[in-house]
Amino acid sequence: MEHGTNLLEGLNDEQRQAVLATEGYVRVIAGAGSGKTKTLAHRFAYIVNEVGINPSNILCVTFTNKAAQEMKSRVRKLVDMGNINDLICTYHGFCVKVLREDIYRLGYPRQFIIVDKEDQKAILKEVFEELNIKSDKSTYKKVLTAINGWKNEIYPEYGCPSYICEYINTYDAKRQKLFASFGESLCADCNANPINWKCFIKYLEKQKKAFVLDFDDLMLYTLYLFETFPEVLAKWQNRLDYIMVDETQDNSKIQWNLVGKLQKKNKNLFVVGDPDQCIYEWRGAFPEALNSFDEDFTPCQTIILNRNYRSTPNILDAANSVISNNVERIHKDLYTTKVSTNRVIHFHGKTEQEEGDYIAKIIIGHLEKGEKLSDIAILFRAAHVSRYIEQSLIRHKLSYIAYGGIRFFERREIKDILSYLRMLDSADDISFKRVINLPTRKLGKVFLSTLQEIADVDGETLYNTLKKHINNPKLNKQGAKDFIELIEKVKMSMQGMSISDITQLIIKESLLEEIYRTEGDQERLDNIAELIASIKLYEDNNVNEEDVSLTKYLQDIALYTNIDYQQDTESIKIMTIHQAKGLEFPIVFVAGMSEGIFPSHRTIRDRKYRGLEEERRLAYVAYTRAEKELYLTESEGYHFEMMGYKYPSRFIFEVKDNLLVREGILTKELENSAREYIKKSTDSLNSTTNADQYTDGDKVTHKLFGDGKIISVNEMNQTLEISFEKGFTKHISIEKADKV
Ligand code: ATP
Ligand code: MG
Repeated sequence: MEHGTNLLEGLNDEQRQAVLATEGYVRVIAGAGSGKTKTLAHRFAYIVNEVGINPSNILCVTFTNKAAQEMKSRVRKLVDMGNINDLICTYHGFCVKVLREDIYRLGYPRQFIIVDKEDQKAILKEVFEELNIKSDKSTYKKVLTAINGWKNEIYPEYGCPSYICEYINTYDAKRQKLFASFGESLCADCNANPINWKCFIKYLEKQKKAFVLDFDDLMLYTLYLFETFPEVLAKWQNRLDYIMVDETQDNSKIQWNLVGKLQKKNKNLFVVGDPDQCIYEWRGAFPEALNSFDEDFTPCQTIILNRNYRSTPNILDAANSVISNNVERIHKDLYTTKVSTNRVIHFHGKTEQEEGDYIAKIIIGHLEKGEKLSDIAILFRAAHVSRYIEQSLIRHKLSYIAYGGIRFFERREIKDILSYLRMLDSADDISFKRVINLPTRKLGKVFLSTLQEIADVDGETLYNTLKKHINNPKLNKQGAKDFIELIEKVKMSMQGMSISDITQLIIKESLLEEIYRTEGDQERLDNIAELIASIKLYEDNNVNEEDVSLTKYLQDIALYTNIDYQQDTESIKIMTIHQAKGLEFPIVFVAGMSEGIFPSHRTIRDRKYRGLEEERRLAYVAYTRAEKELYLTESEGYHFEMMGYKYPSRFIFEVKDNLLVREGILTKELENSAREYIKKSTDSLNSTTNADQYTDGDKVTHKLFGDGKIISVNEMNQTLEISFEKGFTKHISIEKADKV
């Protein structure tokens, strides 16, 4: 345990200044790896050990659960916390504590229920059924976004939480009145999408009935409590002698509001952040507040940390040369006194498999040099990229954990589809049980146990038993008949079809497609597209093999689906860049660095320049996770997200040449086309014939192919994917398709 002066030892002058500035408003602005989090932890310890404050009187909030845990463990090394109930937590975690004490004032029980995204979707499933809404009218994702928007946006103007709470509390009595005031002010929106609005109201009803709070509510209800019951706010203001916030650049307006209220009495607020690492603008982050902190909270002391302790100069320079392309930024100079050993490596593979295998090979090399698996992290922009990386790791028997996520072949949608494929092949019992009620066929426990009993007697699989005994009155259910018909029908028509076509057929016929479309979860849809793309690739690679069949594919893929799941701490960590925020690793790979994936074409489509700059900040976050070695990898091939061939990411070209070593064979031609493509895509952000004049579903006409409907718009390529009435789909350049 470090005490007293020890706490200041090993800190540089600025860090020490920040630790000692315990009183008043203090802002620390600094680049990645400059010891912001370390300083915060030491300051916490100093306030406890030296100033003598009890940890339960210090609020220390960070953004993610992982960061909060990390902070807690760092503080515990410096402070004897005993059994003290500390307040080192996320914003949501803090709000839960507030609400558990006082939510009864709003007529809610202390043991209210908190629901996550999946639970919210389950509620919406009921809402959709009750309102008879089909997936072509809206999706869970769209409604959730609308609900989130309504709850959050109305708040500043109309006091949304009060309305919502009031509305939920006294639903029947005040319904009319509230509808009038609430509804009218929202006319524009609810007229624009009455379906989402109806769902919103129904959703609120269900929340009220079950005393359920979703993640947005936690914060809004807390603010509402503070506003409506000043004594509750006063209690917390009294309790919190000191408040500290990490990663402040990602605070939303609501979070600033909350902190602003809490600090009012004691006025001891310490915030740290790095505007270059703001990666949650899409979710409401409001980094401007960190910039104007010194005006909003006076007098304020600003401390700048310039020295990076994490990375080698090459890595730091690479990150700096990328981020310096952002126009909207405050210039910062970070320096390090470390010595550079290795340059940053850019590997270009001819195929995804080559990229994955390269990563595996490098890792094996590191292990031979005595380095540990746990020193290595593989990061990617989009979760679906993990598919081929994981396959390579598994083939090379390298143990890994999916940090804060789920392994590709363990993801629900992937398991569902593979189970259906197995039903077409071997119809094993595990697959049968997984899909028999997916979507629901109203075949309950009794049905399944009867089936199991008969199957046990016959010594047959469940599916064969069902077929054989379908006339047994206990089994003769409509859902069961439908299921058999589905499987047999697809089996009949799949003769001679490619595996990828069979997959698409079963996804459609089984109505899985409908389920996922209704959910509208882009990540799931991407994973499915990735699975199909990988099957196509499998077919291409085995085009000369005689027995490329569904059976063979399922056997081959079993290598990846039936692996031992030991949660080994000595494992490589794979995760998205968002999940890697605040963390550090000696060796970092950033994989799947292709245009369209990273930067994400969707972000650019939706938010143009702002989107591109946020993507660049993500690259900055990714690169600055590395301590000793950084590898940027990408590969050629067709990609569903790009709707075309993949090019190396601009975030690789933006690294100065002298900092990079290139490995793999990137031809001059490909490099030139990539640069041309990037230039065109950047220009298109300024162009007026813009893809944003088009949306999915618009009718267009083409001089050769006639009329059609837009399926998707690719802003980066400036192309439209059009389903023509003549029965085919094509990607057409925007200038060549006229709106009708
Ligand atoms: P990020 O922006 O990524 O969140 P950060 O600014 O919070 O980074 P830390 O994670 O606190 O940075 O520190 C980065 C690394 O540098 C850690 O390994 C930390 O222990 C080390 N470090 C920070 N300050 C010092 C110091 N004064 N002496 C030695 N090592 C330090
Ligand atoms: Mg940090």
